[in-house]
Amino acid sequence: MPELPEVETLRRGLEKEAVGCCIHSVTIVNQKVLKGQSEAEFRDRAVGKRIMGADRRGKYLLLPLAVDNLSSPSFTLCLHLKMRGSIRLQRADMALGRYGVLCLTLDQGRALHYNDMWGWGEWRVVADTEPLPLPELGDEPLEPGWDVEAFVRHLAGRRVAIKTVLLDQKVVAGVGNIYADEALFRAGIAPTRAAAGLVRQEGELLAEAIRQVLTEAVALGGTQGDYVDLYGQAGQYVPLVYNRGGVACPRCAVPLKKMKLGGRGTTFCPVCQN
Ligand SMILES: [Zn+2]
Repeated sequence: MPELPEVETLRRGLEKEAVGCCIHSVTIVNQKVLKGQSEAEFRDRAVGKRIMGADRRGKYLLLPLAVDNLSSPSFTLCLHLKMRGSIRLQRADMALGRYGVLCLTLDQGRALHYNDMWGWGEWRVVADTEPLPLPELGDEPLEPGWDVEAFVRHLAGRRVAIKTVLLDQKVVAGVGNIYADEALFRAGIAPTRAAAGLVRQEGELLAEAIRQVLTEAVALGGTQGDYVDLYGQAGQYVPLVYNRGGVACPRCAVPLKKMKLGGRGTTFCPVCQN
């Protein structure tokens, strides 16, 4: 699943290419992604509107839409890529590809194609009088306002594995399987340890590791692999441990261990992390 750095990379692309553009038409191939919103309502609310911004909250993208340049936004296009969704900038005359689910035709001969092999993503246009369809989300770890004290206090109250807590979007928004493994490796903390068993300094070290790894990955356009930006370019962040079970640890050369933790593949170094 795309995580904070991959979604942030898309956000930056949208800010550059789509903000200021008007939505001319909408094509919906798979209604499933509208999550219950009718096709007619989605279309009515989106078509003719101008994209006024590109914001991100956790793994959600939020695009405020206005009737024209001079009005304040009255709707928000709220979307989540879930497991396999990706957005590509295309020419307006290009047809949707094999996994194309939704297309927004913009002015200046542009279009945004949403591809999603399984159709698990979410796309909705919400009026400013309605609540945004977001779940409860914790602090943004890259914002200066991240309350690290509160994060450390929260850990002290959780008996589950620290990795499981990091995946909880209510605690820190945007961290998923890749960056949880990476941050725990950098902090030297075993993913299986009970969160409540971490001492204060370890909690602070972990917070710093989360910030560091996310900052690096954003700068590199996300992780190498399935995820691509608006132009189809893959990210350049190379994980140190994530999904590298059996490979030599980059620090001590002992083979990295892979296991299931809370149903998620988890890779760590049995020597460097404890
Ligand atoms: Zn090691």
